[in-house]
Amino acid sequence: MTKSKKLLTALIFSSIIISSSGCETLPEVPVISPETSSEFSESSSSLSESEAEAEIIPESSETEETVEAEPVLKLSSYLIEKGDYFIIKAENVDFSEVVFKDFLGNDRRFFENEGAWYCFVPVKPDTEPGYYPIKISSEESDFICGIIVKDKEFKKQYLVVEQATLDATLEDTYVREAFAEFFEEKRWNFSEEKLWEGEFKKPLGDSWYKETTSFGTFRTFSSGRTEWHDAIDMAVGGGTPIYATNSGRIYFADWLGLTGNTIIIDHGCGIMSWHYHLHKINVAEGDYIEKGTVIGTVGTTGLSTGNHLHFGITVGGVFVDPNHFFGTEPNFDFEKVKTE
Ligand SMILES: [Zn+2]
Repeated sequence: MTKSKKLLTALIFSSIIISSSGCETLPEVPVISPETSSEFSESSSSLSESEAEAEIIPESSETEETVEAEPVLKLSSYLIEKGDYFIIKAENVDFSEVVFKDFLGNDRRFFENEGAWYCFVPVKPDTEPGYYPIKISSEESDFICGIIVKDKEFKKQYLVVEQATLDATLEDTYVREAFAEFFEEKRWNFSEEKLWEGEFKKPLGDSWYKETTSFGTFRTFSSGRTEWHDAIDMAVGGGTPIYATNSGRIYFADWLGLTGNTIIIDHGCGIMSWHYHLHKINVAEGDYIEKGTVIGTVGTTGLSTGNHLHFGITVGGVFVDPNHFFGTEPNFDFEKVKTE
């Protein structure tokens, strides 16, 4: 038996260590080898709603006397709702060169923070629910585990917009393609360093607002064009201050045809916040800003039917539901598990 076979065997039979963070039922977690992964890829799950951390230890070292701690891979959760994200954490191993292909086909890298390596993996709202194996190989070890994507129903919306507004924005091929190009270029270029501090705040502070379009809503415009709404629309009076939801670097602050006055903040490690349709922009590209800084004011520029802030968050280049961030922060210790 080769070393890698042994490792796989150890993996298959290695137990999943579940934390004691309020998880009363121990769901069955499939830990499988790459050879058999196709058999499991379509499997559905009858798991309870509980979420827990999974710790995957590649090799047992009970009898080994070693000073070096063994490599460990942890998942912040293995039960993920569509439109959420999860974190993979690697300890006692060098993951600087590791790139793994996630189940969306994107290459993902790990970021170092205080001696451990982290990778943020988004789950797009249109991901098919089910089990997805994850295989990560480094020079020292192969890790095999998986996550289960939970289903979630998103709203549908029919939106009447003046034809002149649509013609100048969504129905203008140049404007639409220019934005697609802009997004494709910007979404991958985040800082590898953690720039946020503590929990993320709502961008309108304590101001009352109405969430007129929620994340993941499937919209049909009066022109017939359809799209996924990849952010939340927060309707509030024009001129209302917009606060930086967390600290970071102003990555973009300018006008765009589709989104009007636009600000993007890079919070590091692949997390960016996107603000559209502003009236005023108070910051400049390259500024490092503290959480709570007034970055601009609410307006109705670009493709907009009234004063509101369109607020989105990307994780690793993919929009996820910003509500998963408000009042919380990406959990690096995996001590607690989100229960929303
Ligand atoms: Zn919007």
